Amino acid sequence: MGQVVVISTGGTIASRWQGSGFAADARGGDVLATAAVPEGVSVRVVDLMSVNSARLTTRDQLALLRSVHEVLADPAVDGIVVTHGTDTLEESAFLLDLHHDDPRPVVFTGAQLPLEAADGDGPRNLHDALLAAGSAELRGHGVLVAFDGRIHAARGTIKVQTLAADAFADPSGSPVADVKDGRVVVHGRPA
Ligand code: ASP
Repeated sequence: MGQVVVISTGGTIASRWQGSGFAADARGGDVLATAAVPEGVSVRVVDLMSVNSARLTTRDQLALLRSVHEVLADPAVDGIVVTHGTDTLEESAFLLDLHHDDPRPVVFTGAQLPLEAADGDGPRNLHDALLAAGSAELRGHGVLVAFDGRIHAARGTIKVQTLAADAFADPSGSPVADVKDGRVVVHGRPA
């Protein structure tokens, strides 16, 4: 456990009703406030942007990559969580994994239900991502995706469900870890 930085980019996890639909408008602090922070983890938030991920440009994705590298330049940081829309989460996570040569976990997460939904999945997903990012056992596992109690490797993982909570999976592999009873249970290293 240790110091985790949450880089907030928007998506459904940061979305509120706008009168005719949901759109990402919440700041990272509001998103973080929905989740239980695991014991022993201290969190700092970087508000990078708040957009629906189908609207992310290559420039935005490169800004995210730069931001991750800037945060990792601080040796006091133990891991990073990126909150992101699910529509292009797999592309951003894969891009970051291609440029990740640091043992510290970078864990993407998001939600299928918006910020203020009763029984929304965002708070649990964010809690699990914080747990994974602060977990010494997940060092050296590359960029990861925490969703619905599972931790997947960015490489190979795609969005497989439009609505259901278990939105991500690797069709040719199995999850790197699960989150059970508030603990990360590691199954293996990503190929
Ligand atoms: N439906 C998307 C999401 O789950 C919207 C987006 O990708 O921003 O976050």
